[in-house]
Amino acid sequence: MARVFNFGAGPATLPEDVLIQARDEMLDCDGTGMSVMEMSHRGKKFVAIAEQAEADLRQLMSIPDNYKVLFLQGGASAQFAMIPMNLKAARGDGSADYLNTGHWSEKAIAEAKRFLNVNVVADTKPSKYTLLPAADELKFNPNASYVHYTPNETIAGAEFGYIPESGDVPLVADMSSTILSRPVDVSKFGIIYAGAQKNIGPSGLTIAIVRDDLIGHAGADVPAMFDYKIHADNGSMYNTPPTYAWYIAGLVFKRLLANGGLEQMKQINERKANKLYAAIDQSGGFYRNPVALNARSWMNIPFILKDDALDKPFLAEADKAGLSALAGHRSVGGMRASIYNAMPEAGIDALIAFMHDFAQRHG
Ligand code: PMP
Repeated sequence: MARVFNFGAGPATLPEDVLIQARDEMLDCDGTGMSVMEMSHRGKKFVAIAEQAEADLRQLMSIPDNYKVLFLQGGASAQFAMIPMNLKAARGDGSADYLNTGHWSEKAIAEAKRFLNVNVVADTKPSKYTLLPAADELKFNPNASYVHYTPNETIAGAEFGYIPESGDVPLVADMSSTILSRPVDVSKFGIIYAGAQKNIGPSGLTIAIVRDDLIGHAGADVPAMFDYKIHADNGSMYNTPPTYAWYIAGLVFKRLLANGGLEQMKQINERKANKLYAAIDQSGGFYRNPVALNARSWMNIPFILKDDALDKPFLAEADKAGLSALAGHRSVGGMRASIYNAMPEAGIDALIAFMHDFAQRHG
């Protein structure tokens, strides 16, 4: 049974050496006689695994000491609610500025509206989310409680090439599909959050990196599981955390550190993405990526074929060639190649060779 190249958007491919280590430790992790899945989250072994994972993530992302790293559940979708619940009263007038640049921004906005007044300060829906606002077009309310945006929209494949300047207003970023793909200056953000299942590890784990001054402002009506302070005060072990996902994430962090960290990932990711965009752009119109050049994502690359009648044969033949999960999101159709950190360059090369061959035969 051969492994395929999995271009799924998440849950997504994991590094093979991480999977091999997990397999080797499945029945007996480090002389404990048990799998990490079976350990108490409060036992010595798991606490060491958890602390090491946090230390490694702090090192990888150069996270300043005045930020807590929380290992949560509920996915990025739970953060859509936790953010307004925790930040509404932290500062400002209790409203929030949101950038609407895609499907996930829309979801974040809809959820925030349950809790506070949302001002949509930029909306690229009229472009079908193929454009992003220019930095100097953004005008924020200086009294807002926070500004929220989605640096990389996973479905449209649109990624900001800059960090919005929100002044003193805390900037909150849904980095689900771009975290760890390159270095980022954490100090520019109030909160960075991400579901793990794309660039970190298995689903079930959500990471939130929260600046200290934004913790402790949840109202009395906020349930304990939605209060950052409860999780921070309890080292993300207020309840049973997603231990196995936390462990796998730790293996991924170790591997990234051993392979040159995020600066190295940036170079590899840029090269991988540029290769694939070049293959699309040089296909004589057989393939097309609809996103504006300055908004092209390194992580999620959607493309359409010149005739959508070719979609089915493309996907079927790709599957046979060991290139899996290339169908675009059900809301947009077409194709999408998600090429997170764990997608080897050989996977990009194989996809490009297949695309070229398919275009020759169907052109
Ligand atoms: N935000 C972004 C940018 C995403 O890509 C996704 C998942 N595809 C989500 C949020 C939702 O994440 P979850 O399923 O972890 O709630």
